[in-house]
Amino acid sequence: MLELTLLIIMPISVGLLIAALHPIRIICKDQGSLGQEYAWKGLGFLIILFILGYCVYFYTLMLSGIQSIDTVIIIILFSGSCFVLAVMKLSLQSIKQIKKISLLERHHALHDALTNLPNRVLLNEAMTGAIATSKRSNTPLAVMLMDLNNFKEVNDTLGHYYGDRLLQSIVPVLKKSIREIDMIARLGGDEFAVILPSANLDDAKLIATRIINAMEQPFSVDQHILHIGISIGISQHPEDGTDGESLLQKADVAMYIAKRNSLGFSVYDLSRDKNSLTRLVVLGKLRTAIANNQLTPYYQPIINLKTGEIHALEVLTRWHDEELGHIPPDEFIPIAEKSGLIKQLSAWVLDTAIAQCAQWQTLNLDFILSVNLSARDMQDDSMIKELRKFLTKHAVLPSQLNIEITESSMMLESNQPHHLISKLNQLGVSVSIDDFGTGFSSLAYLKKLSTQTIKIDKSFVIDMLDDRSDEVIVRSILDIAHNLGQAVVAEGIETKESLERLKELNCRYGQGYYICKPLPAEQMFAWLQQNSKDDVDIKSKLSIVHLD
Ligand code: C2E
Ligand code: MG
Ligand code: MG
Repeated sequence: MLELTLLIIMPISVGLLIAALHPIRIICKDQGSLGQEYAWKGLGFLIILFILGYCVYFYTLMLSGIQSIDTVIIIILFSGSCFVLAVMKLSLQSIKQIKKISLLERHHALHDALTNLPNRVLLNEAMTGAIATSKRSNTPLAVMLMDLNNFKEVNDTLGHYYGDRLLQSIVPVLKKSIREIDMIARLGGDEFAVILPSANLDDAKLIATRIINAMEQPFSVDQHILHIGISIGISQHPEDGTDGESLLQKADVAMYIAKRNSLGFSVYDLSRDKNSLTRLVVLGKLRTAIANNQLTPYYQPIINLKTGEIHALEVLTRWHDEELGHIPPDEFIPIAEKSGLIKQLSAWVLDTAIAQCAQWQTLNLDFILSVNLSARDMQDDSMIKELRKFLTKHAVLPSQLNIEITESSMMLESNQPHHLISKLNQLGVSVSIDDFGTGFSSLAYLKKLSTQTIKIDKSFVIDMLDDRSDEVIVRSILDIAHNLGQAVVAEGIETKESLERLKELNCRYGQGYYICKPLPAEQMFAWLQQNSKDDVDIKSKLSIVHLD
């Protein structure tokens, strides 16, 4: 009986050893390194030797019969075979798991976590491949760089959660608008790039138009309906560059032109690039300009329309660069906001303008200073600290300062604007809602805010005499504001007629080119002296009769 059992165990042991060769075969097939493949093959060879030895031993036992020592040997050999099979199977499993982890890690390193799109690293890899193919097969290749138009506003006003959700819902729309062979990558923020293999300029334009049309649809994120456009820059290989970096850079220049001129898309054009500003150039120069005090604060008076008294001076920053010329704030403020440089810029404006205010005070010119801050400044409390620091440094009372925050920045989903506005109020600083009418404030929302003044956006005021709907809007804003106990400033008064109409409508304050354009400090000083002492100029403009 024992003998029969032993004779059965022996072929089973051989079977186990043969089974152990299978994992080795799989491991060898997937092995990337030649050295390791040889090591595993060597191991397989040893197992085969083991099997052959086993067979010879089996054969001699059959001839000579089983001794008692053979029982021990057969049991040892059986355990050895089980051990070899188990080790091989476990090795295969571990190798598979390590492979899976490393594939996942590679995916993470090459893809964007939020959208699962390829990231900049993978884009660069793919771009190198696409350029090589384009060269080899002499086929065209185009690259697109895209930037969402109103994304910053969404992020600033609704918060990052909605910004992220919006990006996630945009990705399928973008993917649908490109061809299957195209590769779309997220470069960060709201910036995407697309490689268009075999696409000539017409193909690239067609795809860009398709993307722009698709992005015109409103996106719904929870209860919010968001309208978001896109600006696209196109560059081509080999005309605009022979490596990925220069193609992307040229597409960036074209994209910036598309954005500045609201063109939808723009194709890189060398002749235009000579004096075009790339965002990077602007950003670098702006950083230097702030650090070197090369920006200039201009001041524009805000007047009491009934009495002609100067109520406040709004600080409007001007930037003149030797190379780039005059760059309007509507252009450099968004760049500063996007890059985070706005905090330094706002600190610079506060410091410089409060210092100016202090100097004018010593000359008996006492006005409220109205400073524009951006949504980015509202994201934490650091701005309050800065503001306090500058008021103390220049010995100016908080009541001399007013902060203007655009309507859209007030609409942050979080409680942050309310919190900051009440902090400013506690400090004694008043707050105005700027560009009112251009955002989406609901009346209920407006009621909650503890601001003191509403500034009607100039776009409604400029045309209010020719455009009835503009006048209706101005009148409605005045009604709402007065009912909520807010003072109103009308921006953009360009003519005597619109000034007269605003006075009839009981608008208390006004600002505009008709009254005075923004001026640098010295010129503003002269204007202030003239208008606050004898009041002649301004009162005659406002048709105020002199009684003295
Ligand atoms: P805003 O705060 O609404 O400023 C009013 C803008 O209207 C200014 O443009 C001013 O020059 C212009 N303006 C004044 N009166 C008239 C008029 O009668 N007609 C017309 N057509 N325009 C008039 P500006 O200086 O180009 O500034 C544009 C925007 O840039 C400002 O709009 C403000 O939001 C922003 N900005 C300017 N300086 C700063 C700053 O230092 N910090 C921040 N965060 N934003 C700034
Ligand atoms: Mg303003
Ligand atoms: Mg405004």
